[in-house]
Amino acid sequence: MPLYRDEAVVLRTHKLGEADRIITLLTRQHGRVRAVAKGVRRTTSRWGSRLEPFTHVDLQLAEGRSLDVITQAETLDPFHSRLGLDYDRYTAGTVMLETAERLVTEEKEPSVQQFLLLVGGLRAMAGGEHPAKQVLDSYLLRSLSVAGYAPSFDHCVQCGVEGPHRFFNPSAGGVLCVQDRLPGSATPAPETVLVLGALLVGDWPAVHAADPRHLREASSLVSAYLAWHLERGLRSLAYVER
Ligand SMILES: [Zn+2]
Repeated sequence: MPLYRDEAVVLRTHKLGEADRIITLLTRQHGRVRAVAKGVRRTTSRWGSRLEPFTHVDLQLAEGRSLDVITQAETLDPFHSRLGLDYDRYTAGTVMLETAERLVTEEKEPSVQQFLLLVGGLRAMAGGEHPAKQVLDSYLLRSLSVAGYAPSFDHCVQCGVEGPHRFFNPSAGGVLCVQDRLPGSATPAPETVLVLGALLVGDWPAVHAADPRHLREASSLVSAYLAWHLERGLRSLAYVER
């Protein structure tokens, strides 16, 4: 079987047979990959915690007929052990893993930008420099952008006129001017729209300066935007207080 190396984040695992697991990975060069880890559930497993969700690993894999097989794994960053100590960060991190899996839909279709975003996002989540909810919101907006659903928070998505605009509609893809507003649009506070723009570009000083009220409103609009673009909602998002 031909071998290849890649680095990856472990997104999810599930049981296979008596002692094995199928590991769902987001790799740097091969996109989403599902691979078998043999013997990983034995108490004497040589894999240890290296193939747990969140772990950033360097892998060697053997190409299989249906699923590839993991032959070597070395931990690059055990995000799991750093996130597991904090409920808010852990649950928000879980949403990131689920989002990455849902947005990278094709197996073995390279998606370097999604990989780098996820590693950067998990690093920020584990680092604790910024609040968990805003790290999550920033990650969600950026990963949706990379997936082709970039929202606009300054120009009207219909006519392109520069804002500020008062109306936000997830189905339209962002803010709308008075002329183009759609029925059922949200009318967030102007400060909230600024917060959304800051989250999208990672302007952390602006995020830190924002009022908690506007951060909360921004979070709920990010959730609405995400829900619109994913066919089914995220299971894990139910555990994150919005
Ligand atoms: Zn317009």
